[in-house]
Amino acid sequence: MEKNIQDLKVLIDSKKLSERIKELAQEINKSYGTERPLTLVCVLRGAVMFYTELAKHLKMPIKMEFVSLSSYGNSEKSSGKIKSFNLHLPNLKGENVLVVEDIIDTGLTLDFLIKFIEMNCCADDVKLAVLFDKKCARKYDITPDFSAFDVDDKFIVGFGLDYCELYRNLDYIGYFE
Ligand code: 5GP
Repeated sequence: MEKNIQDLKVLIDSKKLSERIKELAQEINKSYGTERPLTLVCVLRGAVMFYTELAKHLKMPIKMEFVSLSSYGNSEKSSGKIKSFNLHLPNLKGENVLVVEDIIDTGLTLDFLIKFIEMNCCADDVKLAVLFDKKCARKYDITPDFSAFDVDDKFIVGFGLDYCELYRNLDYIGYFE
């Protein structure tokens, strides 16, 4: 049955999201220091809101790169394979890279992307920051270096995360009951 926005319950409001992302940025600033440039890789399209909000609070010089990947299609469960991708990244030789993703679920997407960057882009160091960690769904051995919130096994929507490509613009995180 099709769902609509009236059935969406608030899980995390906009204020809590902003506060926690600011805190996470402080953790990242502390971990990397403020001198050396950091290349932030945004995983489109879900990470777009988290990425811009996080970047505003980072204190080191930032380079911005974008890739796009999808393992869900229009479903509420992972398809178990990467459905589409566009991985045009430059050579990142000697650079510190931080991949920024909306949510890690089975880990398939990020396992694939991080291995791709490590094998093809010659980065010095590749780390991972996620807005949500759905630990209970993990199938690949991958742990984020920075994570804002844990979430249990529900399908969440808003702040970049979609339901059938809709609702990415919401400034809060909701779920359908
Ligand atoms: P994984 O490859 O880790 O199984 O899935 C990661 C991708 O699945 C995320 O980038 C996101 O696009 C999608 N995803 C996983 N859980 C959710 C969820 O609760 N809500 C939405 N909207 N997308 C999700």
